[in-house]
Amino acid sequence: MSRRTWHAHAMRHWLRDLRSGADHLPDASVLLDRDDRARWFNRAAQRLLGLTRPHDRGIWLPGRWEGSELGDWLRDGTLRPAGDIAAPVSGGPRLGVMLLPLRAHFRVLLARDNSPINRIEQMRRDFVANVSHELRTPLTVIHGYLELLDADDVPALAPVIGEMRVQSRRMGQIVEDLLTLSRLETQQDMVGEHVAMAPLLATLLREAEALSQGRHQITLQHEANADLCGSSKDLHSAFSNLVSNAVRYTPSGGRIVIAWRASADGAEYSVSDSGYGIPADHLSRLTERFYRVSSSRSRETGGTGLGLSIVKHVLGLHQAQLRIESVPGAGSSFHCVFPAVRVRREGGDEG
Ligand code: ADP
Repeated sequence: MSRRTWHAHAMRHWLRDLRSGADHLPDASVLLDRDDRARWFNRAAQRLLGLTRPHDRGIWLPGRWEGSELGDWLRDGTLRPAGDIAAPVSGGPRLGVMLLPLRAHFRVLLARDNSPINRIEQMRRDFVANVSHELRTPLTVIHGYLELLDADDVPALAPVIGEMRVQSRRMGQIVEDLLTLSRLETQQDMVGEHVAMAPLLATLLREAEALSQGRHQITLQHEANADLCGSSKDLHSAFSNLVSNAVRYTPSGGRIVIAWRASADGAEYSVSDSGYGIPADHLSRLTERFYRVSSSRSRETGGTGLGLSIVKHVLGLHQAQLRIESVPGAGSSFHCVFPAVRVRREGGDEG
């Protein structure tokens, strides 16, 4: 065998091994040329992306996946990975996809079956919901008996009974917040009630004043002639969490401003305070469950550590964003930015 033939032979073997290796990968991989045609794909791509050999070799992929989420993502042309899109095959799984750039404008499309991770996520959600649900009844019983105990009968135990009542109420609030989060997590979309902002803002101001008990200077700036479309119960819960945080994390004598303004492409509800503020390195983690900058301050003021997590979920279901600005020692502002699709004419009918 000549040296040249030997090389060609070795290359063929090497290529076959490489292809067979790629065929055993659990993730789909597709080699795209500069015109987005499929040059090569592995076996998992047949299963997850519906490609067939030899029919789809050389096929223009945006056209092949026309009308599917994957087709839209590919046409979009950005190299931004997508975490959860539908497989372009009927009854297929949800996929995580990404495009890796190669030389000469070639790209590799990688797609991973999200089913295992989704199953674990579902188990986590069910576990939290079930535990919270199971804790609710015993807690109600304990709470009920504690309310029946009269501290005057045993004065020596009065402080103990008082503390037990506070802690059982706190546990009850944690369980209720966890159940709220479980419901919000499993909810796919939001009801479209007309949410009148004027009475809601008036309620929030009253709640802030009741919580503050005269310790802060609280103002309401109602500047937008606009209402919202969504769930009034959940929006109230999110907005009042921000109000309650402003009161709890602002020392006496501080200022709190609740504002409702129209923005260039929607409307914005915000709560600003002149309180303790939050160091920048904590900001990105604030909406995680039980994440606190200072556990002791949160507990002392009756926090459950779940408020901002609830805010984030409620806003997500309304396609709104939470923006946080804070300067330690100077104060914080929490902005809920609603897109135009969620904004309605004030007092108007459902649109
Ligand atoms: P918590 O019940 O602990 O207040 P949240 O989820 O509402 O839980 O808030 C998470 C953490 O974010 C709080 O523990 C606190 O450290 C910080 N935080 C929230 N709002 C403010 C605020 N207005 N000023 C300063 N810190 C805040």
